[in-house]
Amino acid sequence: MSDRKNILSCIQPTGEVHLGNYLGAIQNWVKLQEDYDCKYGVVDYHTMTMPYQAKKLRENTWKLIFELMACGVEADNLFIQSMIPEHQELCWIFSCVTSYGELQRMTQFKDKSQQLKAGSKSGYISAGLFMYPVLQAADILIYHADYVPVGKDQEQHLELSRNIAQRFNHQFGKEYFTHPEPLFTETPKVLSTADPSRKMSKSLGPKHYIALQADSQRVVKQIKSAVTDTGESSGTMSAGIQNLFTILKATGNSSDHAALLADYHAGNLQYSSLKEVVATSLDGFLAPIRERHAELMQDKKRVKDQIKQSSNEIRKVAQETMREVRELVGIQTVRPVR
Ligand code: ADP
Repeated sequence: MSDRKNILSCIQPTGEVHLGNYLGAIQNWVKLQEDYDCKYGVVDYHTMTMPYQAKKLRENTWKLIFELMACGVEADNLFIQSMIPEHQELCWIFSCVTSYGELQRMTQFKDKSQQLKAGSKSGYISAGLFMYPVLQAADILIYHADYVPVGKDQEQHLELSRNIAQRFNHQFGKEYFTHPEPLFTETPKVLSTADPSRKMSKSLGPKHYIALQADSQRVVKQIKSAVTDTGESSGTMSAGIQNLFTILKATGNSSDHAALLADYHAGNLQYSSLKEVVATSLDGFLAPIRERHAELMQDKKRVKDQIKQSSNEIRKVAQETMREVRELVGIQTVRPVR
């Protein structure tokens, strides 16, 4: 056992990974592996809380695994949530120490319920959507995570995880679960290239995001057609231009970034030159990820076996937790599966 602190973080398999996901989350995951014991989950059960297609879900789960590994997430740190059914078991137990009222107050539940109400035919609000943060608490607490890297939007859920841990410990008379702390890291927020008044997101559609696996041609095309002139008022940089500078900085091309920013402040920046430089830098930045992805895809079976193996290893921790939890809450004990 190492004395490094534990980190747990999860991502939903909902489609292609885009530049916003990479710069806002995955790049940070890769870095954290240097200093922490990390477990990163592809949480397919969570995806079921909104309308989805079964076949696509299985496909997207593996797609995401390949993309994460191409970005540098180590296979040993990765697991697929549904390969560890203990998450569900703990979720049930936690649902019995969570109050209905506190789940009703979750802003993400309110937002997503609204989306479903406003949307189309299959948009009923499932009990699963309501329970989402309880499952999330189980994902985190089952591994006794010390830290969870979160964005502001997930802070409330993490707070709930801490409340659940506290209530469980109090009710069953043992300081058993740790109280996971948020780990805030400065990560860039990337905006949609087609509508920079909004955050880059899959749900807006393919025009709005730059897929991490996009080929050179597409990357260049998308940067060149990026909207630059919305929301501009005299004296302030438009969101579209800011976004291009954000992307340029993230690619590590600091010399061009500084020079072009100086041009901007001097009032002689040509947007076409900025786009040219951003497109080239971004394409060069993404190329190694694409190459690594292509390599992984050459041997899909090996990658899948690795992930089954790592999920199995990680499952042992979850099984041990459940053995102790069963003991504490007064239900029958079962032998872990070997
Ligand atoms: P999407 O909005 O495309 O569905 P998710 O909500 O699945 O993306 O986000 C997965 C992770 O990527 C989260 O940690 C989220 O904070 C991060 N992320 C998503 N979009 C962006 C963005 N435009 N800029 C920075 N980070 C982002």
